[in-house]
Amino acid sequence: MSRVSAVRFSHFLPSLLLLLAGLSAAYVKDLSVFFTSLFNVLPTLVLLLGGAYCAVYRRQRELFLMVTVYVAYFLLDTQTDFYRDNGRVREDAAVVFHLCCLLLPLLFSIYALWQEKTHLFRDFVARCAVLLAVGSVALALEQSFPQALLGWLAEIRWPMLHGAWMSLIQLSYPMFLIGFLTLAAQYWYQPRPLHAAQLVGLLGMFWMLPQTFILPFTLNIMCSQVMLMIAAGVAHEAYQMAFRDELTGLPGRRALNERMQRLGRNYVLAMSDVDHFKRFNDTHGHDVGDQVLRLVASKLSKVSGGGRAYRYGGEEFAVVFAGKTLDECMPHLEEIREIIASYDIKLRNPDRPQDDHQGRQRRTGSGASSVSVTVSIGVAERQAEQRSPDEVLKSADQALYAAKGAGRNCVVAAGQTRRGAVRMQSAAG
Ligand code: GH3
Ligand code: MG
Ligand code: MG
Repeated sequence: MSRVSAVRFSHFLPSLLLLLAGLSAAYVKDLSVFFTSLFNVLPTLVLLLGGAYCAVYRRQRELFLMVTVYVAYFLLDTQTDFYRDNGRVREDAAVVFHLCCLLLPLLFSIYALWQEKTHLFRDFVARCAVLLAVGSVALALEQSFPQALLGWLAEIRWPMLHGAWMSLIQLSYPMFLIGFLTLAAQYWYQPRPLHAAQLVGLLGMFWMLPQTFILPFTLNIMCSQVMLMIAAGVAHEAYQMAFRDELTGLPGRRALNERMQRLGRNYVLAMSDVDHFKRFNDTHGHDVGDQVLRLVASKLSKVSGGGRAYRYGGEEFAVVFAGKTLDECMPHLEEIREIIASYDIKLRNPDRPQDDHQGRQRRTGSGASSVSVTVSIGVAERQAEQRSPDEVLKSADQALYAAKGAGRNCVVAAGQTRRGAVRMQSAAG
């Protein structure tokens, strides 16, 4: 599967909605007592619930991301509370704020990029060590040399690049920029919901920091939203693990079972099975077999006529047409069968040793090897006497047997057997 096709807007959607909700809430003036009290406890609540959730799923990376955001929230909230109560900032406000502007993007990006290793405990200790080391060095410097540290942080190092719009210390901008670039690259190479959430989360904090002392509750709201983004990313991935098939990216058996509970009165179910796939595996190897399954899945996922493909298991795929009749679906199934049969699959590794089934491959003049596969499809419509989706699926399966019996590479409707079978010349023989 190419990278572009693995990049999905849906990976970003929950985080973007949370970001938008956070931005709108931050701009609301004159909040009621209810919301003021809610926003006061929200970050702690989200940390406790989200942290427990991550711990249960053993997702340490996300746990540490939340802790990083919470520590920054805690430090800055102490300052904003003082400012709200006294009408002036605390003496250490500037140094604490600047340190947060520098260390928050740094630590967030480090934890976001730091993939989980197998050994849970060692991983946990290493992450704690980084947090403690950075935290204690910052605290020691802040206690011992507050003025020197403040001067170092606030120094304008690159006057040419300094703009009047910059309300954070100059050092904070390269930190955020490096964070954005590396997290964007991480998403590009591994397009996962969590990687999308981390990227949007960093954006949320970039927006939040300059507003900390300007908009009341920005800090509480945005820190909560960023932690929620991370938790939502974990939930999204857990859902994908349960409902998506890893090899093909199609929804899996569990998703099909769910879908079958929610089908209305009229629907058509089709079962398709790759022909002679065992032989294909034996000839070309399991890896090439996997490649072919991915390809068949990607073709089936594009079936027209409103069909939705699922990986049923092994080399079997189910296609669900909700609200459709058999006559409406047949042309689309025929079309997809034809597309798969006529597709030349280029083998990535044509030099691999092959046995006597080698002759099955079609070879082009250049010596590059290409093969083709076919699928047989059995299809059944919901009938008055076949009320449950399981029964309809069973009929589709029987029709699939009939299609295999009819010589493969064809579509057979339940009850029609050979009469309805559309025989096509099989490229595989
Ligand atoms: P038929 O035309 O009758 O369907 O013949 P077939 O060889 O396809 O039928 P059979 O069900 O006996 O073989 C299915 C094979 O599919 C067995 C197994 O080696 C292969 N298979 C199942 N799942 C996977 C998978 O995830 N990857 C690969 N590479 N092969 C798989
Ligand atoms: Mg099979
Ligand atoms: Mg098969």
